[in-house]
Amino acid sequence: MSTTLETDICILGGGIAGLWLNARLRQLGYTTLLVERGALGGGQSVKSQGIIHGGTKYALNGKLSSAAEAIADMPDRWRACLDGTGELDLQGVRVLSEHHYLWSPGSLISNLAGFFASKALRGRVEQIKGTQLPTVFADRAFKGKVYQLAELVIDVPTAIQRLAELAGDSLIADSSPHLQRASDGGIEAVRLQHHQVKAQRYILSAGEGTESLLSDWQQDKPAMQRRPLQMVLVKGAALPPLFAHCLGSSPKPRMTVTTHPCADGQWCWYLGGDLAEQGAGQAPDELIAKAKRELQELLPWISLEGTRWTTLPVNRAEPAQSGLVRPDTAFVQPVANALVSWPTKLALAPNLADQVIEQLQSQQVVPHASTPITDTLTKPKVSAPVWDICFP
Ligand SMILES: Cc1cc2nc3c(=O)[nH]c(=O)nc-3n(C[C@H](O)[C@H](O)[C@H](O)COP(=O)(O)OP(=O)(O)OC[C@H]3O[C@@H](n4cnc5c(N)ncnc54)[C@H](O)[C@@H]3O)c2cc1C
Repeated sequence: MSTTLETDICILGGGIAGLWLNARLRQLGYTTLLVERGALGGGQSVKSQGIIHGGTKYALNGKLSSAAEAIADMPDRWRACLDGTGELDLQGVRVLSEHHYLWSPGSLISNLAGFFASKALRGRVEQIKGTQLPTVFADRAFKGKVYQLAELVIDVPTAIQRLAELAGDSLIADSSPHLQRASDGGIEAVRLQHHQVKAQRYILSAGEGTESLLSDWQQDKPAMQRRPLQMVLVKGAALPPLFAHCLGSSPKPRMTVTTHPCADGQWCWYLGGDLAEQGAGQAPDELIAKAKRELQELLPWISLEGTRWTTLPVNRAEPAQSGLVRPDTAFVQPVANALVSWPTKLALAPNLADQVIEQLQSQQVVPHASTPITDTLTKPKVSAPVWDICFP
């Protein structure tokens, strides 16, 4: 027989969006239950590069777009949380780099140099030279320019772990939650294997899985788009830390490199940007060969001897936009007694939570359920780091 668990808010999906929101709502006194189908963070979140963007990447076409404006205060909000002075206490989450960088292999950046020095970007982008350069560029063979961005890079698995701690006993594992449709078109309940959850509001934050939750609920809007990528991973003991966008000839980074710790003490370079976008449909061997050529051309003084290589196909899930245009902010849309959400970026999880809280307040949804007893329910695990999954 199925038992009913009553809660104020039921969240579906425990990636960065669902977990961040869950922690904020609990702080505000709402009772919450978060249902996760797989491992916490195991969708896009642990496969992300962990860059807490401040929008500079979107300024590469020489002007500040609305995306750049919307995201500008995210690094400061995350930093405050990491220091223990922000909206959530994320002390203990590992920061992989205090800065992300932008580098041009040659003179390409010169036509953007004036823009980077402009008032609009003051304090967000700073050209660095000599001893300020990250070790990877401190080689006589390097002829390009390096800009330091006011953006940081975090170790996402430790962030997911910390947010799971902040979730207390609100997490439930269930391999196939089903949305039961109410006669007014809203959600009647979330059916789990042995229980059902009834809530004042349901938040769909299941990343790519939100599409099938919507179809289960017989809702065709809002529509979702997938942005396919194929990331390249390089593992080696001697790889120096590198956190940078390499500027190419288009407004998108030619390659974005971040560096991540593997369980055996080695490092993994995670290569994204245009390389991963253009490489989405490519055979892994061909893409790896292209990535090797790129690194040999861009950083010929770095030895890749003894490194191991693989690729990871992964989709970004976002609200559908015409022409696969990049959405500017987190997306939250009310649908009956639910809110459908995609953060569109890990960095925008705080913005997604703000929007949900605003919606709850404007819909006068106030905390009133007592804490449901969940101690006999199975808890979801935190996903292993993707570098350890890809290089077992
Ligand atoms: C390769 C890559 C690199 C990226 N790099 C960056 C970056 O550097 N900086 C940045 O800001 N953003 C980055 N992003 C974007 C960022 O990763 C995503 O926007 C963000 O992680 C999405 O979080 P989410 O919680 O919405 O989704 P997800 O992390 O995908 O989490 C969704 C969760 O829902 C669960 N789920 C699915 N279906 C169901 C269901 N039916 N019921 C219950 N649970 C369900 C999944 O198991 C998963 O745990 C990157 C994305 C990719 C793919």
